[in-house]
Amino acid sequence: MAKIVLKGDIVFTSNKDRFETYEDYYIVAENGKVVGIYEELADEYKNYPIKDYTGKMIIPGFVDLHLHAPQYPNRGLGLDKELIPWLNTYTFPEESKYRDIEYAKKVYSNLIKDLWRVGTTRSVIFSSIHRESTKLLMDMLMDSGLGAYVGKVNMDRNTTPELTEDTQRSIVETEEIILEYKDKSNLVKPIITPRFVPTCSVELMKGLGKLAINNGIPVQSHLSENVSEVEWVKELHPELPDYVSVYNEYGLFGQTNTIMAHCIYNTENEIDIMARNGVFAAHCPYSNYNLSSGIMPVRKFLDKKVPVGLGSDISGGNNLSIPSVMVAAIQASKIKWLETDKKLQPLTSSEAFFLGTKGGGIFFGKVGSFEEGYDLDALIIDDSSLMCGNELSLEERIQKFMYIGDDRNIIHRYVRGNEVSEPK
Ligand SMILES: [Zn+2]
Repeated sequence: MAKIVLKGDIVFTSNKDRFETYEDYYIVAENGKVVGIYEELADEYKNYPIKDYTGKMIIPGFVDLHLHAPQYPNRGLGLDKELIPWLNTYTFPEESKYRDIEYAKKVYSNLIKDLWRVGTTRSVIFSSIHRESTKLLMDMLMDSGLGAYVGKVNMDRNTTPELTEDTQRSIVETEEIILEYKDKSNLVKPIITPRFVPTCSVELMKGLGKLAINNGIPVQSHLSENVSEVEWVKELHPELPDYVSVYNEYGLFGQTNTIMAHCIYNTENEIDIMARNGVFAAHCPYSNYNLSSGIMPVRKFLDKKVPVGLGSDISGGNNLSIPSVMVAAIQASKIKWLETDKKLQPLTSSEAFFLGTKGGGIFFGKVGSFEEGYDLDALIIDDSSLMCGNELSLEERIQKFMYIGDDRNIIHRYVRGNEVSEPK
């Protein structure tokens, strides 16, 4: 695996403002990392194994910054409800089932196969509160060759009795997973996962913040998804000025790498704190439509230099495919611009593509681009079935794939220079 050359029509976004396109070029990688992109192959690379994908597109693997593995069976269910009734009617009952390892195995093997199928080479995943099925999910992802952060969910208040953890036990079990998994794999890592402020006591948040900082472990949670949720947090924490301050107070807001899903109702001041602390926003437009949550003003975050990526947010979101989420993000930004604020320019295609590749990929390090030193996470796209006899530029071909392509067009997947075959 040490050395590999891929030949084809290369497309990526090293910055959000434009696609970089190289028609019929070579991309060379050593030790899983990109060395360069060349029109002619220099003599020193000619004895490297060459995969010839002439006429096919070579693009970065997709990055999903936010999804809930145990909600996979619930895709498409109850999406005529809003967030809190949906959580209580569908989500919490389903998440209670993962005490059963056999059930978890069935669901997670479907999910991992589908992640592979839709070209999501890296994902950041909420598991359930259950330690054993969380470890199982991590082991299964390791076997698959895909990259992921996986977090055992923590919650000790305001949920159903089956999902209410003992505070100390929740912290201890989280620590056990961290110690067992933090150095076990280069591609699958633990992440600390308080579900969101309303379901986590101060004692729990304090304990998790300490674990994150002491072990250098990243954090993921939800933020300002829904108006009544924001009000609820205000009621629960009158001592602090806003939602962001609650996480920040307990070491869960950028003290280590952090992702916050949704970020629809953040104040200007909260967005400034995100920018200052380098906290990632995971934009999940499908979920936000489905649960009548609202539309994230993504342009504001980009203008203020907050790192932003995309999330499928299964199963609030109904679609696992990141190119579909890219399109939904463009559509959402157009409605926001049209109906709310003419200063919030809609996303361009290259911006949406960037968010679903390098934008989220940066959370993993040098991931999501083909610049020198980046991990060679790549998809080979056969877009011949999308053509209607017209001649298209490479930039037009990638737009077409984003809008009308699907997993049938993805014919090979690579993670860190290794081809990943269909998970068992
Ligand atoms: Zn979520």
